[in-house]
Amino acid sequence: MSNGVSKRDYYDVLGVSRSASDTDIKSAYRKLAMQHHPDRNPGDAAAEESFKEAAEAYAVLADSDKRSAYDRFGHAGVRGAASGGFDPSVFTGFEDILGNLFGFGDMFGGGRRRGGPQPGADLRYELEITFEESAHGAETAIQIQRQEHCETCHGAGSAPGSSTATCPQCRGAGQVRFQQGFFTVARTCPQCRGAGKVITKPCTTCRGAGRVAKDRKITVKIPAGIANGQGLRIQGEGEPGFAGGPAGHLYVVVQVHEHAFFRREGLNLFCEIPVNFTTLALGGEMQVPTLDGAETVKVHEGTETGTTMRLKGKGMPDVNGRGRGDLFATVQVQTPKKLTKEQRQVLEQLKKALPAEGFEPRTHDGDTQSERNLFDRVKDMFG
Ligand SMILES: [Zn+2]
Ligand SMILES: [Zn+2]
Repeated sequence: MSNGVSKRDYYDVLGVSRSASDTDIKSAYRKLAMQHHPDRNPGDAAAEESFKEAAEAYAVLADSDKRSAYDRFGHAGVRGAASGGFDPSVFTGFEDILGNLFGFGDMFGGGRRRGGPQPGADLRYELEITFEESAHGAETAIQIQRQEHCETCHGAGSAPGSSTATCPQCRGAGQVRFQQGFFTVARTCPQCRGAGKVITKPCTTCRGAGRVAKDRKITVKIPAGIANGQGLRIQGEGEPGFAGGPAGHLYVVVQVHEHAFFRREGLNLFCEIPVNFTTLALGGEMQVPTLDGAETVKVHEGTETGTTMRLKGKGMPDVNGRGRGDLFATVQVQTPKKLTKEQRQVLEQLKKALPAEGFEPRTHDGDTQSERNLFDRVKDMFG
């Protein structure tokens, strides 16, 4: 260090005597490291200095060669070792270790405890429904395959009557401890996965897994108004949890079939209604199909083809029960394909009575209108 202040004696820094054993040095350092660790003293520069100082002292005194050089020559004897502040290798895995000791696993973004309760897996099911079912709601039974607790062994994995044995690797602790640097680190036992016990005779039904695949029928209530791609979460109908953890959820994703003549957009419905030229010209009534049956709608005299009528509240119901959309019915003139003799005569007479066609080109706002999507036009009309 180049600040000119004489360095503190390493033994003083750790608060141990010159004859301290390796164990004393280690435990003294561990105590100081915990006390001054930057993660426990955020923004405290003095604590950070103390932390680095202790680390530097430990890096020298924990190494027998460096310690004897220090004992004989003081700081000059270990300048190489101490010039970089301290040996960074000492800190390999340090945060892991703190996490284990203090239960800070989540703070350090990892090291989540294993072997404790864990939620079961979520399941996904794609359900195809008709347009009418999406409009009115439905109740349907679906069949899924999922893992369930084995009934033979009640999820324990042991054959009935056989007993479990204490895990030989961890001796029942569920954890194994090993040395990492100068710390003892605990990890979930890989053999028993934290249970502390191992199966001596596996259950023949589940082969020791404690769970088996089962087909289940589940009743699904589809709310009226559900749209293509929307889903339902059925709480707790996923796979069972581990070690007492909660079951996962079942997600039912709905695919709605297309309707023969209704198109859905948001909560609104769109359709086209073929109407005779005479009804449009003279006025009258037309039948508009809706989700609740046909509606009779008045047609005004002189209605043009392409005119859209709005039937308020005849669209799709909101899936959360907040009202309904509208139905937009667009009139399409229907040209008769086969005429009787009588009909032909009447039409010939009408033709003579009407003014000649084609003398005045149509000048609507934009001549590409007819090529535009019907639904876009209707949306423009009604905002
Ligand atoms: Zn079993
Ligand atoms: Zn074990």
